[in-house]
Amino acid sequence: MEKDRTTSSESARTEHCPNCDSTSTKNNMYFCKGEKIRVYIECAECGEFVARYTLSAYTSDKSYESLLRRLRFTRINSGKRAKNMVECFEDNVKTEFDHVLSLIKQNEDERMIENIIEEDFPE
Ligand SMILES: [Zn+2]
Repeated sequence: MEKDRTTSSESARTEHCPNCDSTSTKNNMYFCKGEKIRVYIECAECGEFVARYTLSAYTSDKSYESLLRRLRFTRINSGKRAKNMVECFEDNVKTEFDHVLSLIKQNEDERMIENIIEEDFPE
């Protein structure tokens, strides 16, 4: 039942852990003002780092219109927020992964992701 991928512009695949081949993963989201939102995928079975993604768009079960409407509210405050840029850790993905996990462990941001975007990523 395999489609000819050379003629198709889209495909999909479940990500597997490189260590144990599990398809159970945890998405650890990292928010740093002034940077794109990053997602560190962790294996839910063995804890291995699976992948890192940088988000250019976020989609949830909320309608796009309702998210946009909410995002528009925060535009007013964006100047003030730009000053809050923090220095972020070096670009070493494993170090980042450990850093994000420790952030979550120490002080997980419990806001809804929509709220984090609305409050911290006004652009
Ligand atoms: Zn694993």
